[in-house]
Amino acid sequence: MRSLVQSGARVLAWDDDERVLRKSRELFAGCEFVHPYEYKWDEISELILSPGVPHSCHNEHWVVRLANRVGCRITSDVEIFCRSRPARLIGVTGTNGKSTTVELIGWILNRAGIDSETGGNIGGKGVLSLPQGKATYILELSSYQLELMHGVSLDIGVILNITPDHLDVYSSMADYIAAKGRILELSNLLVANCGDDNTARLCENVENMVEFSCEEKLGKGVSVLDGHIHFQGRVAEIGDLKIDSASNAENIAASYAVAKSLGVSDEVIIASIREFPGLRHRNQVVAEIANVTFVNDSKATNAASVAKALMGRENVYWIVGGRARMAE
Ligand code: ADP
Repeated sequence: MRSLVQSGARVLAWDDDERVLRKSRELFAGCEFVHPYEYKWDEISELILSPGVPHSCHNEHWVVRLANRVGCRITSDVEIFCRSRPARLIGVTGTNGKSTTVELIGWILNRAGIDSETGGNIGGKGVLSLPQGKATYILELSSYQLELMHGVSLDIGVILNITPDHLDVYSSMADYIAAKGRILELSNLLVANCGDDNTARLCENVENMVEFSCEEKLGKGVSVLDGHIHFQGRVAEIGDLKIDSASNAENIAASYAVAKSLGVSDEVIIASIREFPGLRHRNQVVAEIANVTFVNDSKATNAASVAKALMGRENVYWIVGGRARMAE
């Protein structure tokens, strides 16, 4: 909201939660807090939804229904950011590994001398508050954000994997896959995981695509298998990593494919992957005490991510908690 006000826009805002509304009035003095029932909708150019507001057809927030009824365009902060068309845009989606891959790509590109910035859903970094003037922006794109992107394109889109998730929000797995599939329409070049059944089927007929797999060695494309990267007949050993190589194999393969397509050398890519410290709370080793390794994987919020983390270790004592999502 702050960025929109600074850009000179007249911003009307609302939150259904009384407490959030009160706090927002204090924080965002430049906004007018008016209930959408009272808007003069013909004066509103677009409705920008916060990431958590449901907008898919069988689970719509009332404001989405209202905006649709009066014919107001609905969009997101990511679309507004992409519309301003910074130099190069890379978007990453998938059920698991988005944040890690976004940060890994940014890490590699910066080490290769390509001035890059990462953002999206990561660590509360709203896209509109990202520093301007970078050569490349790498954005994490959730299925909700993809559904709200229309008039923009990505130079490179990455799709990591699609496994059951958010089925409390989508009416079926097919709907969830279709939402992720929006990245196909947006991307000039697609980097896609053909080792994942759902992703492979979705991307079957895409022409401008670099495929990757962590299941088999591909004739064309990138494969990450047993600690090695295979690409166009060449093999490179990845070596010792600071992150868990098995649960991050897809993230590594996708990042390699993106960096390669931007002309970064194998040497720089592999050295960068080795140094990458990983993100907190993602299969992160936090201590080694008396021969016991303590791992924080509290960002795992679905079965596929938990399975990968557990399969990579032996004699696991698993401390688990959280709220079950009924449809999974
Ligand atoms: P996202 O941004 O998609 O939620 P993160 O990088 O934040 O992904 O990781 C979330 C969880 O998924 C963590 O538990 C992490 O260990 C796990 N994870 C990361 N990459 C993958 C992957 N490619 N496949 C499965 N699980 C993964």
